[in-house]
Amino acid sequence: MAVSITVKGAKMTIRMAIPNKGRLYNRTVDLLIKSGLDFGEEWGRKLYITAKNQDIEVVFIRVQDIPKFINSGSVDLGITGQDQIINSGYNLEEILDLGFGYCRLSVAAPEKSNIKTIDDIKDGCRIATSFPKITKKFFDAKGKKVKIIEVGGSAEIMPYMDISDAIVDLVSSGLTLRMNGLVEIETIAKSQAVVVTSKDALSRSKGMITDIVSSIRSVIEAESKKYLMADVPASKLEEIKKLFPGVEGPTVMKIYGRDDMVAIHVVIEKNDVYSAVNTLQKMGSKGILTVPIDRMVQ
Ligand code: AMP
Repeated sequence: MAVSITVKGAKMTIRMAIPNKGRLYNRTVDLLIKSGLDFGEEWGRKLYITAKNQDIEVVFIRVQDIPKFINSGSVDLGITGQDQIINSGYNLEEILDLGFGYCRLSVAAPEKSNIKTIDDIKDGCRIATSFPKITKKFFDAKGKKVKIIEVGGSAEIMPYMDISDAIVDLVSSGLTLRMNGLVEIETIAKSQAVVVTSKDALSRSKGMITDIVSSIRSVIEAESKKYLMADVPASKLEEIKKLFPGVEGPTVMKIYGRDDMVAIHVVIEKNDVYSAVNTLQKMGSKGILTVPIDRMVQ
């Protein structure tokens, strides 16, 4: 097995694979930069880069290939869709859900066909898909001997061309299916983007993979939160403490020369900002500020 963790002097380098294009690309790059990886200036044109500030090499690879290279040991960890990991059939370790790239792998059939449920798919039925392994596993488990037609993409057009009777493909809003006269029949698997590695790489990396993951996690946690600061009436403090439990309750500080007001700092959910600001205002608070948080380590 190839081992990608290399030792430069006393240092190890971790190799991380991320999507080279497509739906997961922008969010992934953004997340890694926010996590503190310095990609340098020229990275847009390169297929691999070495983060300037850390011992991490980032390689840009097709989402489909990432599980294979982690399994072979050529890559230590990666970011890809769960659908790709399931379809690869490899026993890998998903170590962090990233909260984007949500979709589901579903069976769909033409609106005008007789296929309304999975039971209507009979032996010999032709199923077009870019996910042959998981499709076969799904129909095998149902005891159906379907004919799988492997395609590289655009599965939706196959029933129209009479190349297949139904398809198995990724769906998010369902709009593409509807536009192509197809109806979703059953979900095979749900998916989102994840950080994935292998048991072997985890043990070789001596904590480096765990460090990278906690850095990414801190960015994800911070993205859903805001830091709120306000001067609030001291008489309302107990009420406010109940409203904003924060990470460990609000931080309360004295305001120089004022006994009637105190300053509070608290981390709140982004979704709660609107009601929090309104409530504080109604209680007589002043100088209410909300600011973004770069990272949050609990
Ligand atoms: P792409 O490289 O653009 O083909 O997308 C690759 C990954 O994006 C898939 O493996 C999924 O994990 C994720 N994805 C999220 N929503 C969708 C969707 N509606 N269609 C295809 N891929 C999706």
